[in-house]
Parts: sequence; C-alpha cells; structure tokens
Amino acid sequence: MLSEDVKMDIKQLVWLRNDLRWLDNPALYYAALEGNIRVVVTATPEQWKIHNESSAKTSLRAGLIRTLFRKLASFGIPADLITVASFHDIPGALESYCLTHEIKHVWFNQDIPIHEQQRDQKVSIQLGTQGIKTHPQNTDLMVPNPVLSQQGTPFKIFTPFFKRWLTLLSAQDWQPLPKPKIQNTAIEYVEPDIRWATTYREDIWAPDQEEAQQKLWHFCYTKEERYQEQRNYPATPGTSSLSPYLALGALGPRECLFAIQYACDNKGGNWKDSIWLKELAWRDFYRQLMGNFPFLAMGKPFKPETDFIRWNQDESLFLAWTQGNTGFPIVDAAMRQLNQTGWMHNRLRMIAASFLSKLIFADWRKGEKYFMEHLIDGEFSSNNGGWQWSASTGCDAAPYFRVFNPTRQSETYDSNGDFIRRFVPELKDLDAKSIHNPSHSQRLECGYSLPIIDYKTTRIAAIAAFSELKNMR
Ligand code: FAD
Repeated sequence: MLSEDVKMDIKQLVWLRNDLRWLDNPALYYAALEGNIRVVVTATPEQWKIHNESSAKTSLRAGLIRTLFRKLASFGIPADLITVASFHDIPGALESYCLTHEIKHVWFNQDIPIHEQQRDQKVSIQLGTQGIKTHPQNTDLMVPNPVLSQQGTPFKIFTPFFKRWLTLLSAQDWQPLPKPKIQNTAIEYVEPDIRWATTYREDIWAPDQEEAQQKLWHFCYTKEERYQEQRNYPATPGTSSLSPYLALGALGPRECLFAIQYACDNKGGNWKDSIWLKELAWRDFYRQLMGNFPFLAMGKPFKPETDFIRWNQDESLFLAWTQGNTGFPIVDAAMRQLNQTGWMHNRLRMIAASFLSKLIFADWRKGEKYFMEHLIDGEFSSNNGGWQWSASTGCDAAPYFRVFNPTRQSETYDSNGDFIRRFVPELKDLDAKSIHNPSHSQRLECGYSLPIIDYKTTRIAAIAAFSELKNMR
C-alpha cells in the first residue's frame, strides 16, 4: 500500500471496454482507491464491423458511454473517448494518452475472447516499455476462478459444470463493489464526440445504467418467482430482457446475483434454487468454453466431424429466413421480432436457429453471423454456444436427431397465437388453431407466404446427413 501523500501524485487510468458501469466495477473501484483517476473508453468501429456487431448494439453502447461519462463527471472523474479503427491501433493510442497525462498505472477488467486477450497483452507490453504498469482485474464472470473438474480439466457438459459452479459460488465471499471514491468536486460533463453510432429503439432499450439497475431489481422482486413457469412463452414478458445491458457490461453479473440473493432472502426463498440463476450460469459456461477452447472463436464447430456436412447453399431460402418470410408463422414472427427490436426471446432463438440449421440445412455460421449483425445483445460466446447447441455441432448440444417441429413449438409456446399476431399482422384474424399452420387458401387470402420447405422430408434428410458422420467420430 502506498502512503496518502504519495498516492495523490500518482495518476491512474481506468480503461473501460465492455464494462460500462460505475457499480461493481473492479478496475474502476480499485484504481480510485490508489489515487486520482481518469477514465478512458476505446471505441473501435472497424473492429466491431469485423466482429459483426450490430448497429443496434453500437447505438446502445454510445448511449451508455454518454450516461457513464455524465455520472463520472458528477464524481469528479474526467473521462475521455478514444476512437480508433481497430484493436491494432489501441496500444499506440493508449501509450500517447498515458504520456500526455503522465499516467503510471492502467487498470482494466479482463476480457475472455481471444482477440480481446491478444489486444490486452499487446497493450501491457507496449505500456511496459514506458514504465507504465497494467493491473488486469477479474473478468465479469460470476465465478471468476476457473471452474474445473476433479481432474483439473474444463467442463464440456453444463450439468456437472453447474454443480461445481454453484459450490464455488456458495463458498465465495464477496459483496458487489460500491461506486468509486468521489474525487474532489463534480466537474463539467463534456459530451463525447461519437460519430460512429445512430440512435436505435431507445423506446425499448433505454441507454441508462440506472434504468437497467431498476429493471433488475423490479424483475427479482416481482417476476423471478414465476420465471420457471413463464420463461418459455414469448407473448408473456416473463424473462428479464437484461441481456443487452449484460452484454455491454452496463450491469455486472454479480449485481444480478446480489439482487437474486437479496430478493430471495426477503421473501423466504433459497437463491440457490433460482432457475434464473441457472440461466446466468449458462452465460458463464459459454464464456469458459470460449476461454478454454479458443478454436471456437475461429469459426470451428466443437464436434470436428460436423465440418464435413454439406450444407444447403440455396441463398433464396436463407434470405426468406432472414426476412421472416418462411411461411412458418412462429419462425417468421421470431425473425421479425429480431429485425424490428434487435432482440429475440430465447425459445424463439432456439426455434429459429433449429429451423435454419436443421430444416433449411444452411450452415449454422450464417445464422450466427446474421444474429450478431442484428442482436442488440449480440455476445460472441453466448451466440456461438446457442447456435452450436441448436445445430448439434456443440459440446453439450441438442442431439442431432432432435429437430424442432416449428408448428408443434408454436402450438405449445404460443397457443393462442398472440405472439404471431403481434409480428405477423397479416395473420391476425386467423383463429388460435389455424394460425400456427394456415391452410393454402388462408395463406392466399391473408397474403402470407407458402412454406418454403416441407418439414417431414427436410427433417429426415437432416437426420440422415448427421447419421453419416457417425463413422468419423
Ligand atoms: P433471461 O432469461 O432473463 O436470462 C438472464 C440472463 O442470463 C440473460 O440476460 C443472459 O445474459 C443469460 N442467459 C440466459 N439464457 C442464456 C443462454 N441460453 N445462454 C447464455 N446466456 C444466457 N444471449 C446473449 O446474451 N447474447 C447472444 O448473442 C445470444 N445469442 C443466442 C443465440 C441462440 C441461437 C440461442 C439459442 C441463444 C442465444 N442467447 C444469447 C441466449 C439467450 O437467448 C439470451 O441470453 C436471452 O434470450 C436474453 O433474454 P433475457 O435477458 O430476457 O434472459
């Protein structure tokens, strides 16, 4: 520990990326304990394009940077935005920033994906040549220490991972970190120069960390108890819809844990039984997979033999899927929800992904990319995990012979057709039975597409193609 008088001379820099929050932010909190801090956020529009980041997510990111900077100004903490093209430009940009501001220490929260890790290593090396020390902090996983089996190997199956994860989580002694130490008096907020974003659906996705916090607490107090019962029905707002805020780090996962624990304690429940917590564990699971098996970030399937599948190259089928014109009402409603709101309900993500990869039989990577390009919560590891699960190419994936029947899924999870009516208005006057699979004449009357594939034959063909791979394993 440094003495108080020495501390004030040291200038600390906090470098934020996908952790745009002031609460429970280890880099921000611990740096501020060491002396005066500045904050820098790096924007890399070209890199985001390479990573297929959607304009919806970029827009939310811009709004969250603005609200974060405003808040930091109220704490007396100056903040700057550095815009460069790609990760490649960051080491040089940070070096000159540090030299200009006489920075000696740089703090950041670690990222998991491989490009991000390489970026951070390069920054540490380049700053090191100037005598500037970097202080990487734990990533935004709920359980930051490695979750390993008794043999010390990473888990490939979720259930044993979850058991071990829960044990480690229960043994963890932590409290969410408070806001950083306030620095002198408030300073004037200066609007950051953001030219790389346009505004997207702020009516649904408020670019505000405080609103995300309120949403979290409201969910944990009023909806979490009924999550298990409601989470599969897209017409009901039974899930938290916090994913965009988690993806950009406007909300930390341990804040979610704290809110569940607090709400359960107050209502006499046991937080360890929370099904919502288990869903958050999937987020950690996919992140640890990405960290332990870097080939996942290189377009590779977890099951290598599935790379030999000859996917259907028919672009017109893929296009119909992207536009929500497949003639399968639940799939079309799902894709239109994505295109119109930047978000899709989890049950629908599974239905839409299964439809593309098993029935259209298009390469799952095309769907993965399309999702990233349009999701406001696009997050590489969860998206890749979800797609590999749906396409049966992943490690703990749906068995290849499990092919979702879109009509059955629709009848089960949108039985009245309310969700379909919301996003496929041309079918709004159909009754609750026929809306899931309108007859030929109903389709013509409503101006709705005919089915682009035949479920029975495409299902059989998909299973046969996967069966052929058996000998390669
Ligand atoms: P809730 O049900 O309230 O869950 C709370 C949080 O837990 C979510 O916000 C999310 O952070 C996490 N979570 C929940 N389910 C999962 C899951 N199956 N896998 C990983 N994390 C989960 N999630 C993303 O955050 N980004 C993506 O890009 C993404 N792509 C997906 C693609 C496919 C094909 C599939 C099947 C799933 C994908 N998911 C993705 C997971 C899941 O669909 C979303 O996290 C969820 O729908 C977000 O809504 P919510 O915030 O209301 O979730």
